[in-house]
Amino acid sequence: MSYLLKGVRPLGGDPVDLVLNEGVIAELGTGLTADVTIDADGLIALPGLVDLHTHLREPGLENAETVESGTLAAALGGFTAVFAMPNTQPAADTAGVVEQVYRLGRDAGYCDVQPIGAVTQGRAGKQLAELGAMAESAARVRVFSDDGDCVSDAVLMRRALEYVKAFDGVIAQHAQEPRLTEGAQMNEGVLSGQLGLRGWPAVAEEAIIARDVLLAAHVGSRVHICHVSTAGSVEILRWAKSKGYAVTAEVTPHHLLLTDELVASYDPVYKVNPPLRTAEDVTAVREALADGTIDVVATDHAPHPVEEKECEWPAAAMGMVGLETALAVVQQAMVDTGLLDWAGVAERMSAAPARIGRLQGHGGTLERGVAANVTLYDPNAPWAVEPANLASKSRNTPFGGRTLPGRVVATFLRGRATVLDGKPA
Ligand SMILES: [Zn+2]
Repeated sequence: MSYLLKGVRPLGGDPVDLVLNEGVIAELGTGLTADVTIDADGLIALPGLVDLHTHLREPGLENAETVESGTLAAALGGFTAVFAMPNTQPAADTAGVVEQVYRLGRDAGYCDVQPIGAVTQGRAGKQLAELGAMAESAARVRVFSDDGDCVSDAVLMRRALEYVKAFDGVIAQHAQEPRLTEGAQMNEGVLSGQLGLRGWPAVAEEAIIARDVLLAAHVGSRVHICHVSTAGSVEILRWAKSKGYAVTAEVTPHHLLLTDELVASYDPVYKVNPPLRTAEDVTAVREALADGTIDVVATDHAPHPVEEKECEWPAAAMGMVGLETALAVVQQAMVDTGLLDWAGVAERMSAAPARIGRLQGHGGTLERGVAANVTLYDPNAPWAVEPANLASKSRNTPFGGRTLPGRVVATFLRGRATVLDGKPA
């Protein structure tokens, strides 16, 4: 089946006809034909989005999400590839488990699933996992993380950085000094005092980032910082990049838009790790994403079943779902504010995550001959987020009841439609 995207605007540029055929972008021009014509007048074409940070919860936590439900949510959000975090049960810390996740993604067929391997056995932070075996497995793992927990032992972190150099891997660090955040419930500040919730200081994130950029530089290896949330973290990253250190970083959509003032509602839908920060922090991470200090937008899609979220604040799980709302939130926070154009969005939500994760076949440009991984997006289609309508098995979106400015219309994975008219194809 070939598709003609008529009058589409690649990266928001001038209108053109684009033909997808036999898995690749076959033609760009005018007056073209194909089996199926999609009137794409006014729509933006982006290279298929790539999420460097998704929790798919399978194996072991299928009541929150499965590979199938999570990748359907991803496709509806415009993603053609997701990196799956290893905090499953069992943890993805062996070649066997990462191959299982990889195969489940391939069988579901909504988008490519690239497993992330655990850094330590059982994510327990004591001994390195089988990094080499995971790298050599059918899943060809290149990103390793204990996400959900920090690799807090400096010696283990150094050894992991040394180990992954052999196959050009990267350690993706969840930067959270554990002793400084024991029992922490929200951002530490005036508001945490007023609300009587234990504070989570910015320095708990910043101290680990400072340590790890220095360790990565010392070893000559690559480190990636997950979900950067504070202005101070941005300053450290800016300094590290000015020194030429091999550090990359991501920010989540929710940290680009929401502040800790929402916690005053005591609604656990706003409980997340790292916590929502102040308006000054939001400004800083937006500017850092715009100027390239932060390389990537990553969702940190973290599904939880209702019983783990709809309870009292201190007992609630941390995390938010985000795959289906990510692009619209980035439009609102970055494009509609004039901080980023659509080419900039394509770099930060497709090219950079694919490059950092060494993922082949994704993150390309929209040129003749490249794999037809394409997202069609309408930036002028406001919609009210209704949690019950999400494809994810979980409903914990912080954007429920909000109106977002634009909507994914279609997603193509190697020329095959996974989403059409905003619905599963
Ligand atoms: Zn994390």
